[in-house]
Amino acid sequence: MNYKEALHNKIFEIIAQAAAELGVDTYVIGGFVRDLLLQRENKKDIDVVAVGSGIDLALKVSELIPHHPKVQVFKNYGTAMLRYEDMDIEFVGARKESYHFDSRNPVVEDGTLQDDQNRRDLTINALALSLNASNFGDLIDPFKGLDDLKTKTIKTPLDPDITYSDDPLRMLRAIRFATQLGFEIEQESFDSISKNKDRIKIISGERIVDELNKILSTPVPSTGFILLYKTGLLDLILPELTALNQVEEIEGHTHKNNFYHTLEVVDNICPNTDDVWLRWSALLHDIGKAPTKRFSKKQGWTFHGHEFLGGKMVKRIFERLHMPLNQKMKFVQKMVIMSSRPIVLAQDTVTDSAVRRLVFDAGEDVENLMTLCEADITTKNPGKFKKYHNNFKIVRQKIVEVEARDHVRNFQPPITGEEIMALFNLKPSKEIGILKEAVKEAILEGEIQNEYEAAKVFVIEKATALGLEIVK
Ligand code: ATP
Ligand code: MG
Repeated sequence: MNYKEALHNKIFEIIAQAAAELGVDTYVIGGFVRDLLLQRENKKDIDVVAVGSGIDLALKVSELIPHHPKVQVFKNYGTAMLRYEDMDIEFVGARKESYHFDSRNPVVEDGTLQDDQNRRDLTINALALSLNASNFGDLIDPFKGLDDLKTKTIKTPLDPDITYSDDPLRMLRAIRFATQLGFEIEQESFDSISKNKDRIKIISGERIVDELNKILSTPVPSTGFILLYKTGLLDLILPELTALNQVEEIEGHTHKNNFYHTLEVVDNICPNTDDVWLRWSALLHDIGKAPTKRFSKKQGWTFHGHEFLGGKMVKRIFERLHMPLNQKMKFVQKMVIMSSRPIVLAQDTVTDSAVRRLVFDAGEDVENLMTLCEADITTKNPGKFKKYHNNFKIVRQKIVEVEARDHVRNFQPPITGEEIMALFNLKPSKEIGILKEAVKEAILEGEIQNEYEAAKVFVIEKATALGLEIVK
């Protein structure tokens, strides 16, 4: 097969010319070729392999481009990058790899194109297009990757036990690509991942999270998480989640399977947000349920305090997987801790004061919290489903109204501690704290408006009741 037409961008001509001048065979390979053949949106990063020095080729290519773009050289890796228009082009010399059992970093030596294709993770990622004058645009496909693209199959170029065991990150990549592309993992590959799952232990948290983020960024992440679960990888990566996969029955009382419920929530939230951290919140919102689960004759199954414990578990997960311990983690924690708040509202008549409290506690994140809670409605009872969604609509509307009137989202007390002290000629004291808290409560309860005059009248009343005298 020849794909000359598809390589119409000038850059391929330039690379071909540079390769010819240096006398090295050169190919475009990997993700770019895969996505081109799948007619996915045009990729902006292009991998080029030279049977020779990738660095020399990059330097030559830069020479041939009129404005000589800067070449970034990574000597240790034998690679080089340059930018052309809006594309990042990476050059690498063809190589042969051999692995030690305890590392995913191979010993590397120069190799042929075939050696280089052998070391790729998947047949669909090993496709190469020639940039050589003699056969420009020819597809070099030793593992029938094109057939696998057609049949939507995830498969390794070599024996899967070798490919996955050499670099266990490939197990996650296989599952990630299956999820992104809607492909099926071939049985032999699937079995091999299950067999080699423990090898994931040599992969860093950062790498694992990169792949989890990519899975979470797809339209239906549950596909990937179910594959992770079935291969046994999820139990090694996020045991807090697999712990939710159980249904117990005591005296005829059961509870829902919170693992599959969680995956449903994650899928539900995807059409409503692209924010990967909100998607993480959906994934982790119920993790406190396994350790807090109890049964009593009186109450049946309960998960008391699961939100709070869940919040603590979020931190431990982020630490273990080397995720950022910054605002993003705080956000996920907050979402998990508050995840049941709007539900309680939605089950009852929605009062202004309950909404004000919700906005006060959630602050800037109140809309995200609502989005999470709407996704959390997975009841199969159509009556309840409709009722909860309707109530959430009312909650959302009231959030807007209450906010326009009372401004509690970033609550600033309408009367300051200093002003209260001046009114009663007080020094900083317990009473000041009590009065400030009373003002906040009165505003949240809707007893007074969030404004200075109302707060002042209220404070004087309260203070008098406490036996304080106003200074004239
Ligand atoms: P995308 O960038 O859309 O995630 P990609 O296929 O371009 O997909 P990259 O991670 O950019 O993925 O890698 C580029 C190419 O390098 C891949 O297509 C594959 O051929 C090869 N590759 C990347 N990571 C590995 C790995 N761990 N083992 C083997 N080959 C790999
Ligand atoms: Mg890429």
